[in-house]
Order: sequence, then structure tokens, then C-alpha cells
Amino acid sequence: MSTAYEATLEYAQSEDQTDVLYPFRERFYFPQHNGKDVHYFCGNSLGLQPKAVSYLMEKELQDWAKFGVEGHFQARHPWFSYHHLFSERLAKIVGAKKDEVVAMNTLTVNLHLLMLSFYRPEGGRYKILMEAGAFPSDQYAVETQVRMYGYEPEDAIIEITPKHGQHLIEEEDIIKAIDDAGESLAVVMIGGVNYYTGQLFDLKQITQAAHRVGAYAGYDLAHAVGNVPLQLHDWSVDFACWCSYKYLNSGPGGVGGAYVHEHHGDNPKMFRLAGWWGNDEKSRFKMRKGFVPQKGAGGWQMSNAPVFNMVAHDASLDIYEKAGMEALREKSEALTGYMEYLLNQITHLPFTIITPKDAARRGCQLSLLFDNRGREVFDKLTENGVIADWREPNVIRIAPVPLYNTFEDCYRFYEILTGIK
Ligand SMILES: *Cc1c(COP(=O)(O)O)cnc(C)c1O
Repeated sequence: MSTAYEATLEYAQSEDQTDVLYPFRERFYFPQHNGKDVHYFCGNSLGLQPKAVSYLMEKELQDWAKFGVEGHFQARHPWFSYHHLFSERLAKIVGAKKDEVVAMNTLTVNLHLLMLSFYRPEGGRYKILMEAGAFPSDQYAVETQVRMYGYEPEDAIIEITPKHGQHLIEEEDIIKAIDDAGESLAVVMIGGVNYYTGQLFDLKQITQAAHRVGAYAGYDLAHAVGNVPLQLHDWSVDFACWCSYKYLNSGPGGVGGAYVHEHHGDNPKMFRLAGWWGNDEKSRFKMRKGFVPQKGAGGWQMSNAPVFNMVAHDASLDIYEKAGMEALREKSEALTGYMEYLLNQITHLPFTIITPKDAARRGCQLSLLFDNRGREVFDKLTENGVIADWREPNVIRIAPVPLYNTFEDCYRFYEILTGIK
């Protein structure tokens, strides 16, 4: 793929022809608009449905019909160990060891469960540092975590804001705030990619800074997982969680994921709220008293796997496995770079791109901040068969997703935007 971009349909189509990931588009269903595929740029909010889901779901339903309770051991993918199906593939996506990850629950639930392990305020160490403007669910989670221990959010939560008049947060401001908080800091909990601006934070550097002052570092990877390269283990990240319905295409409310570094995962003394599914698997059905956590992130599981809610995850991770994160990232940088190039040709509409210009500081999403007319432009895009995403008060988010979006999609978007007078 070349980077000498051109704002022509011929150029876009020729890029698609040499794109090795192009055929993956065929594995997804696209919503229709006037009998044609929509221009779907909303994979950051809800990924498209892999076509394999209905077949795999039917298989699971058949196993239930055929085996009843025996399906726990006799199903094609025995339900007893169903969650193991995902570990290896997830581990590759987030850069972890197989036992450091587990598919379970949903995102905010996992965030709370992990905070219960990693946020154990004691003496003067009780503060949590996060980015200002974090996704509301994360704000509510952290706010109620500190209240649970009797602290006031205004005192216990340190929020890092962009410098005056800017939209992005400088890493050096985060590092400085961590150093300033010093021994009062218990946990750093940041969204790996900010949902609003699309900014990717330097998680390695932030983790190191947190550890220097004796705090834990954990991340909400909702907008990072399956979107940007992650090396959670090597960066010594303590914990992380994510959802699977955004870039991971696993359907609305799809099963979430969690990562716990092996230092903690293999430590049975690490506090957690327990359930039978996190117990040592060999003794799970002995029904004995006394919780014995299994090693790894799996030791944070509570309930048995929601099998039907995991089928789409299986289908989607299979696609990720075949495409490979490296190839996806390479295409992603080229594709988002192309979209940015096209948007920069547009001068008649009042917007600026607030997402970082540097590809190393963003994933595939671009956020367009409008002075005015934002909602009107968004509605016209929708009328023209574009599915993008509107965020109050005045941002249109678009995500060219490397698994199923094409250079032609980007060009068509540009063409439609050009036509909005
Ligand atoms: C999408 C998203 C959520 C949603 O949480 P659920 O528990 O899955 O409903 C939470 N936090 C962030 C940062 C998100 O992007």
C-alpha cells in the first residue's frame, strides 16, 4: 500500500485490489440502504455480524437439544471448559499469556471486580488517577468504588485534563500527576484509547510511572482491543478489561474480557470476590468448603460460561486469528491515513479532526469536531447511506475498520461529504 494518497475512486479501488485483507469483508453482514451495503463506519461502537454466527449458534442449540445436561462434557465444545476456547486467541490480541486472560461477564462488571482486587485503599494510599472525560460507565464505577471505602470522589479521584484550549491529554501531564500523587496513589485506571477523541495512550510509559510510585496500573481497553497493538504482559500492566461488541464484533452485550498479570493471577492471596467457576477446576465439582482459586485470570470467574453469548465471540476471534493483528494494524494505519487525507481536502464544512495526527497515538477512529452544523451534517450522512456515530455535544466519530472497511468506503464517504453544501 502506498502513502501517496489520491482523492479519486480509481486510486481507492486500486488500493483495495492489492489489499490482502480485502476478502475478509465477505465474512460480515452489512446493513442495507436502498438495496446496497451501507458505508459502515461504526465498528468502534458495534462491530458487524460475522456470517458464521448463525451456523455456530445452531450447532450449540443442537448440542443442547441432543445432550441436555450432558452437554457440559459431550458438546462439541464442552460447556464445562467453554471459556478456554477463547484464551489463546484473546491472549494474542492483547499481548498476554494464555492464562492471563479470560472471557467473562461484561465490561463494567469486570472493571468493578478487578478494582475490588487492585483498589485496596490503605492509610495514605487511596487515590485513583484517570483521564478527564472518561466513558461515563468508567467514571461511575470509579466514583462508587471510592465511596465504598468512605472517600469523596473530589478528593480521591485525580482527573487529568487536556491543557487549556486543547482536546488531547499530554502523556507528560499524566506522568507528572502520577509523580506528584506519589504515595497517595493506589491505582491508575485509564481508557487505553479514549472513546471521544480516539487518542491512544502510551500504556507502557504510564504503567512504568505508576509502578515507580508503588501504584497499580489498569486499563479499560474497550476502544483499544482488536484496534491497536497491545503488549500487556511485557508492559507489566497489572489488570485490564474490555468488551467484545466494538472492534471484536461479538454482538450487543457480548461477553467481556479480563486480563490479570501472572504476578497477581498466580497469587492465591490476591483478594477477589469468588464463585465456583473461579475455583481450581480439579476440585470444582467436589462441592467442598473453602475457595481455592485457579491460577490466572480464570480465577476471577464467578459463574459458568454464558455459552450462547459467547458464540459470536468464537466466530469473530476466528476471523481475527486468520487476519492477524499485525496485518490488521498495518492496513488500519493506511486506511485511517487515507480517510484523514480525504477529510483534509474538505474546506467547505466547519470541522477539525481532534484525533492525534500521529498514527502511533491513535487507532482507526477519527473524531470530527464541528463548530456548528454537526448534527445537520450527520443527518445528511445518514440519509446518504452512511452509518457513523454522533456524540454530544458536537462530534462525529468515524472508524474505518481494517477487517471490513475498504479504501473505496473512505472515498464514498468523502464523495458524500463533498456533496453536502
Ligand atoms: C463501550 C464502553 C463501556 C460499556 O460498558 P458495558 O459494561 O459493556 O456496557 C464502558 N467503558 C468504556 C470505556 C467503553 O468504551
